[in-house]
Amino acid sequence: MIKLQKILCRQINRFGPMSIADYMTQCLLHPDYGYYTQKNPIGANSDFITSPEISQMFGELIGLNLAQTWLDQGSPSPFCLTELGPGQGSLMQDILRVTKSIPGFHAAMKINLVEVSPTLKKRQKQALAQYSITWIDSIADLPTLPLFLIANEFFDCLPIRQFLKGKNDWQEQMIGVTDTQLCFVLGTKKPNEIFQEYAHLPQGSIVEASPSTLALSTAIALHIASFGGAAIIIDYGDWGSNSDTFQSVKDHKKCSPLTYPGQSDLTAHVDFKAISTALSPIAKISSMVTQGILLERLGITTRAQQLAQNMSKDTLKNHIAAHRRLTHPDEMGALFKMIAIVANGQKLPTGFED
Ligand code: SAH
Repeated sequence: MIKLQKILCRQINRFGPMSIADYMTQCLLHPDYGYYTQKNPIGANSDFITSPEISQMFGELIGLNLAQTWLDQGSPSPFCLTELGPGQGSLMQDILRVTKSIPGFHAAMKINLVEVSPTLKKRQKQALAQYSITWIDSIADLPTLPLFLIANEFFDCLPIRQFLKGKNDWQEQMIGVTDTQLCFVLGTKKPNEIFQEYAHLPQGSIVEASPSTLALSTAIALHIASFGGAAIIIDYGDWGSNSDTFQSVKDHKKCSPLTYPGQSDLTAHVDFKAISTALSPIAKISSMVTQGILLERLGITTRAQQLAQNMSKDTLKNHIAAHRRLTHPDEMGALFKMIAIVANGQKLPTGFED
């Protein structure tokens, strides 16, 4: 039996069923057996692949957009250039390469990365060896400077809770044990008022909530409201939550989230409506836009044609496939969404609308 499964079963047998949020936290972050603490999950030979790993165009367009927003805000110096969950460092590498030519940008930036995985931290150190980088544990550790922040496929790793509407009321989906197997069970404690807004949903409906996502995005918005800057959040998700999106991926294939604790990736869709509702009183939040549309608005097709001029054969074929993969609605173009955050009264980054 997988070691972490044994540990979780023992805990559940002692203390009773655990929430999906607690399960995700242990599976992803357990110091000895956690998925992110132990493994490099990204790449063709690993579990999944992300947009910056598919093509340099992704990071270039996002980087230029952040730099333009920095210029729009009067080129504040110094400022924090921050990434949450930078993976192998590819997105930051592309951002830094493309912003080299923006006068004053590199001289003014203080790079701060938030990363939990020791393995990925090492990769980031190698990828970004020519820059001075500070790793921080949380947004609260940022210096009080304007913040230009990017997060791609980060919020989907944060723990969620899940609630199911039964015959009369909502019950929390929990994780229990039968014999030595982990299984889903319904909690007995009655969740309260937050379900007023979902009262109209029929029996059998599922709603997810991520308190960690709201806490972290609120901290980002408060920082930007106080010191200026902008954040771009990119993730797979949607506007609102009313389905089961708790999922697991291993070797690029979906599997049950309960089968390989600590050895498969666990994620849930990001609820952009919940983020927007929580942050609106604090800062200016864009409406949600799909990755495909935003990248087209930023000129990905022109950039793709430019790069294609120096390519032939397999390289060209792969480049065309990468462009399609990032933007096409049947691939990552519609599944992934983006929102931007700036202080009230500031202009949103290019391609984002109120
Ligand atoms: N942004 C990268 C990687 C996405 S994978 C890319 O687009 O390629 C998720 C990243 O978030 C990994 O670097 C992972 O180690 C990190 N991560 C996950 N949970 C985290 C947490 N709670 N705190 C800090 N980093 C976390």
